[in-house]
Amino acid sequence: MDSQNLLKLAEQYGAPLYVYDAEKISAQYKRLTKAFKGVGSLRLNYAAKALSNINILRFMNHLGSGLDTVSIQEVKLGLMAGFKPESIIYTPNGVSLEEIEEAAALGVQVNIDNLSILEQFGSKHPDIPVCIRINPHVMAGGNSKISVGHIDSKFGISIHQIPHLLRIVELTKMNINGIHMHTGSDILDIDVFLYASEILFETAKNFKNLEFIDFGSGFKVPYKEGDIQTNIEELGKKLTVRFNEFCAEYGKELTLAFEPGKFLVSEAGYFLAKVNVVKQTTSTVFASVDSGFNHLIRPMLYGSGHEIINISNPKGKERYYSVVGYICETDTFGSNRRINEISEGDVLCFKNAGAYCFTMSSNYNSRYRPAEVLWYKGKAHLIRERETFDDILRNQVDAKDLFETPKAESIK
Ligand SMILES: *Cc1c(COP(=O)(O)O)cnc(C)c1O
Repeated sequence: MDSQNLLKLAEQYGAPLYVYDAEKISAQYKRLTKAFKGVGSLRLNYAAKALSNINILRFMNHLGSGLDTVSIQEVKLGLMAGFKPESIIYTPNGVSLEEIEEAAALGVQVNIDNLSILEQFGSKHPDIPVCIRINPHVMAGGNSKISVGHIDSKFGISIHQIPHLLRIVELTKMNINGIHMHTGSDILDIDVFLYASEILFETAKNFKNLEFIDFGSGFKVPYKEGDIQTNIEELGKKLTVRFNEFCAEYGKELTLAFEPGKFLVSEAGYFLAKVNVVKQTTSTVFASVDSGFNHLIRPMLYGSGHEIINISNPKGKERYYSVVGYICETDTFGSNRRINEISEGDVLCFKNAGAYCFTMSSNYNSRYRPAEVLWYKGKAHLIRERETFDDILRNQVDAKDLFETPKAESIK
């Protein structure tokens, strides 16, 4: 995917626009598979919430991936995309028993993350095998908003509650077929991850009918050149050895599962937005684009620093800019960025726009959500149309008879 192609796509489909490079997704999938080639049975379940366009899900299915879902709607999307129910794992947090039962009835693997639901589900459906999400209380990630393994986290069943967990399993005679952790995004220290894995292995010994151990995800990807990232190859080497040792000890070849979202799609995505205004103020030069945090909220929500390049003027002199959106409150994509000289009408490209970008977009300020294009085998394919005014009005009930129209003379 080069700048020339991206610029052409912005002209063809208009901006703002999301573009995804299938080749990059496939390369990441293969890289992770290769790092764990020493494991007898490996399963990657793509985390649908990162980028859930049904065509992306279809592509993941085509690559051989399974699917990790967090809502009943994602489960249904996955089934529509062609995933077999048994290739889908459903890992919600804090949802109702009814929703979990609905997912189980569709035949997907249920993963339960609290004792209250576990007891209720186990009592009603002792025959349906269940995976349990454990919280090992290990901080693997850097960003507190996306770190979910710490002591105050709402996720998972605490390792300190294992005695209670075992009591529920014994009393309900339910079948635990998998054990899971997801310590959160941005794994930097492999040894910390391995330490959490040891806790999972220790917990796993309590269950006799396991089929898989799911180590979640949270692989960190680079956002710019020289950025630190999870060393997948090193993790692969070290965890493979430990996993195979554990299986020997356990007496059965288990499946090693991961559920990567960001790792598979982050770098495959590009967000293109056109510059409306270049505004020199007393403190900086603003480049205002025809977009905002309604389309790409991660910089404002997590402080994530997406690299921004000017694909209309790639050889221009570099200058400092603050790139901002049009939303009527603070809406900054990047401050003090060195970017090739920007003119009004130029197209800026935001990198790492594959994961948690479109899926977090909204209609705030009554704006349309952008179109999405998949770049596959050297060709562009429109996979979502840009919204229209009808989409803004959809589901709104026009209660126009509710209010009297003001009389002409009362309007001064
Ligand atoms: C969000 C999520 C993932 C994906 O995390 P990434 O950091 O995007 O890889 C995996 N598992 C669960 C349970 C999740 O909620």
